[in-house]
Amino acid sequence: MLGAREFDARVTAVESLTYDTKLVRFGLTNGSALSFKPGQYVQLLVPGTDQFRAYSIASPPSRAQARELELIVRYVPGGLCTGWIHKALAVGDDVKLTGPFGDFYLREDSNREIIAIGGGSGMAPMRSIITHLAEQGMPRKVTLFFGARTLRDLFYVEDFRALERKFRGSGTSRPCPSRGLRTTGPARPGSSPRRSRSTSSQTGTGRRCSAARPQ
Ligand SMILES: Cc1cc2nc3c(=O)[nH]c(=O)nc-3n(C[C@H](O)[C@H](O)[C@H](O)COP(=O)(O)OP(=O)(O)OC[C@H]3O[C@@H](n4cnc5c(N)ncnc54)[C@H](O)[C@@H]3O)c2cc1C
Repeated sequence: MLGAREFDARVTAVESLTYDTKLVRFGLTNGSALSFKPGQYVQLLVPGTDQFRAYSIASPPSRAQARELELIVRYVPGGLCTGWIHKALAVGDDVKLTGPFGDFYLREDSNREIIAIGGGSGMAPMRSIITHLAEQGMPRKVTLFFGARTLRDLFYVEDFRALERKFRGSGTSRPCPSRGLRTTGPARPGSSPRRSRSTSSQTGTGRRCSAARPQ
């Protein structure tokens, strides 16, 4: 794709966001900074193979200008790339990335309201878009729906809540677990998941929202 290039990068952090989802932070180690639009993705080469896997960039472009980028990776049982990322990848490892790719990105020549819907690791491009807008003072109204199977599959809820408080009236986030039953505990001290058979779920944050059932 036009503009896509190969980058060398080194892992600078690996953090667990949930029981099956990790944040991986990379520092670019050669060439120029990666220039991308929030929402786009990179391809990661699985070492020792010729296999690439696509991952949406979860951090805003400003971080890439500082030669840093973040990916959010959910473990797929038996998966080649996610098995490597979750079981072997460590701080200090060198990797190869190509990118940026994708036509799903923030159109900055518009001031229209944004409704962002992401499920599980599909939240990664939404995080890039929303943090990018937040860096600009949230010039557009944004509502984020974060779909997840259960409360324990949600992450960054408090970060989005903080943005909601900071940009009151412009930013709203709605965590939307499909089921509140399979949780290890409430998302927030003092709140408890409620049993519900409808598509409307307790969010663990005192709000309710509609959520599509998982396939
Ligand atoms: C544009 C784009 C952006 C993406 N962004 C992200 C991202 O930000 N975070 C992220 O975690 N993933 C993302 N993915 C998915 C990612 O590219 C891989 O497909 C995924 O991580 C599995 O790779 P793997 O090598 O571990 O599994 P593979 O070895 O390719 O597959 C192992 C087995 O699992 C099945 N499988 C593959 N993926 C899934 C899945 N998601 N659910 C259930 N079964 C599956 C396969 O059919 C196969 O049977 C994105 C994909 C695309 C196309």
